[in-house]
Amino acid sequence: MMNDGSNAEVASLTRAACEAMDAADPIAALRDAFLVPERTIYLDGNSLGAMPKVALERAMKVTGREWGSDLISSWNTAGWFDMPTRLGDKVGRLTGADDGEVVVCDSTGVNLFKLVWAAATLRPERSTIILEGSNFPTNNYIAQGIAASSGGRVVVRFVEADDIMAAIDIDTVAVCMTHVHYKYGHVHDMAAITAKAHAMGALAIWDLCHSAGAMPITLNACGVDFAVGCTYKYLNGGPGAPAFLFAARRHHAMVQQPVAGWWGHAEPFAFERDYRAHDGIKQFLVGTPPVLSMAVAEVGLDIQLAADAQQLRVKSMALTDLFIRLVEARCGRHGLALASPRNAAERGSQVSFAHPQGYPIMRALIDAGVIGDFRAPDIMRFGFAALYVRFIDVWDAVDRLDDILETGRWQRPEFLSRDAVT
Ligand SMILES: *Cc1c(COP(=O)(O)O)cnc(C)c1O
Repeated sequence: MMNDGSNAEVASLTRAACEAMDAADPIAALRDAFLVPERTIYLDGNSLGAMPKVALERAMKVTGREWGSDLISSWNTAGWFDMPTRLGDKVGRLTGADDGEVVVCDSTGVNLFKLVWAAATLRPERSTIILEGSNFPTNNYIAQGIAASSGGRVVVRFVEADDIMAAIDIDTVAVCMTHVHYKYGHVHDMAAITAKAHAMGALAIWDLCHSAGAMPITLNACGVDFAVGCTYKYLNGGPGAPAFLFAARRHHAMVQQPVAGWWGHAEPFAFERDYRAHDGIKQFLVGTPPVLSMAVAEVGLDIQLAADAQQLRVKSMALTDLFIRLVEARCGRHGLALASPRNAAERGSQVSFAHPQGYPIMRALIDAGVIGDFRAPDIMRFGFAALYVRFIDVWDAVDRLDDILETGRWQRPEFLSRDAVT
């Protein structure tokens, strides 16, 4: 519960006060780089980041000139061939990795498959992969798929957040953690869990889908072995943009990944009969990159690189704090229960509230121009991308939420039927 002091403080908050916060925001101008439709309050950048304005120009250039006019020569002349590593190095700068430790390729799930399997080859005498069972299910499915096809060699163990540290033991191949939980938004202690894994001789694999671009990340300072993440959430790479894969340099010589394709070969254009892995990060590549997606994704990475990660985190914590306080003060009586950590330091850039009627309420909110999303069974999820969300957006979103709850407008029949993508 909030104490009296903060209640009084929230009661005195006004829209004008939020406007003043925007006026004082040192990174407010970053929003200008994005296209956010006029009446839309976009609180879903944790699912699909907003479009950088220059993405349109870049998409025109990569199709019109590079593909349309220059055709195949663009592999060399427009830097297409180097895209996986060039973008990878940019992601590396955003996540505390060195040049040559990250590639951009494939999807998060496919990259996780390569890394979990690779981890198992590095720890042949061990069998257990530990995951947080309530985490984004594709990570579980990938690990289960490896276990199912391993003939008993690999087993999966699901553990919940509080029990992770104790679960890591001398049979652990790797602990595979999502840095920020997709549904509840809690942040795991990357340094502590990685250190515990290493103390037990295990490896640490991190999924940065909900933290890359949302908070400072220090992969090498934490001693992380492997990591994956997507570029279309807080990195604003565009729908279906490829994911990234990090492998610490100390593993490059020893590791073996299961999907040997020509792009991972030491000399792809030697067209040798037999596979010979590249000795660097390129060994994790498989095939031809999705050039159009990569070109657009690079624009998002460049914007992120020009911003200050610390300032983004400070603003993100202030936005999410404000949202929690306003929702609780103004809509609390309608039965919304905070499902994310109250302490900003323990939370990613998202806030979740549980409500038994979360689905129709979210549909009504979207209808009112406030885009969040819903995660079964009862979670209303709101993402706050500090690059383009303003303090007045928080105010207006809560205003519209309050109106929907107060009038009961969410009970209209059109809000009750489920869409395919929630
Ligand atoms: C978004 C997300 C993914 C996405 O996986 P794809 O294979 O790229 O579709 C995976 N894991 C987590 C934790 C995510 O949040």
